[in-house]
Amino acid sequence: MGEVEFQAIKSAGFVAAVVLVFSLQRLSPHHGVRRARRVNLGLWGVNLLVIGGACGACACAASLWASRHEVGVLNVVDLTSWTAVVGTVVALDFVSYGWHRVNHVVPFLWRFHQVHHADAQFSASTGVRFHTGEILLSLPLRLGAVVLLGAPVVGVIVFELIFGAANLLVHGDIDLPPRLERALERVFVTPALHRRHHGRAVCQHGTNFGTVFSVWDRLFASFGPNSSSSKIEIGLDAVAAGLSFAGLLRLPFSQWRSRLG
Ligand SMILES: [Zn+2]
Repeated sequence: MGEVEFQAIKSAGFVAAVVLVFSLQRLSPHHGVRRARRVNLGLWGVNLLVIGGACGACACAASLWASRHEVGVLNVVDLTSWTAVVGTVVALDFVSYGWHRVNHVVPFLWRFHQVHHADAQFSASTGVRFHTGEILLSLPLRLGAVVLLGAPVVGVIVFELIFGAANLLVHGDIDLPPRLERALERVFVTPALHRRHHGRAVCQHGTNFGTVFSVWDRLFASFGPNSSSSKIEIGLDAVAAGLSFAGLLRLPFSQWRSRLG
């Protein structure tokens, strides 16, 4: 698989995930959020231009480089191809969990990640609301993980498809039937679990950092229960809810300025 095919599959998967999540938001809404926020779509557009254009297939390039140079665990250990694909999905989701948790602990990283949390409504468009700086800062870790793991390119694309869809789904304004929710949350992150992560209280956004698997939160004592039936106040006390697009882009730097001043 080349970088062009990688980008094409990733884009098609993203479009399918958008259709699925918006359908579920209409069929079974939690709050009944009707519209995607313009500022969220603006940030997504900037990220698509800045990072999607320059590095949309970087994970594919990193995987191919590791394979050519026989670098990374999965290029040395002899596994069946499907075991390597499953291992890649599990390992890269764990890396994402760890990185997300670090974003809440290191003040420098939180300045960027708070842009995501400052959304006072919780819906699929929150899932694309990231400061470009946060994504740029995460790239070395994400690409380094692909190389160190020796992740096969098929594993990387399967991960990108699952992770991209899960990211939109867990931010969805979606209620699940109680029995299905209880069954899913044993292994996977549900919208209700991630909604708790976006709660206003510090004790709430200190839980549920996972995106695909909820097992990392259970294993590392960051799991916080939540169900579709509970109502949670979303957002951050420290950041105004209605910040403009430019205000959100400036947010990490304006706080530095005010401190220096
Ligand atoms: Zn977070």
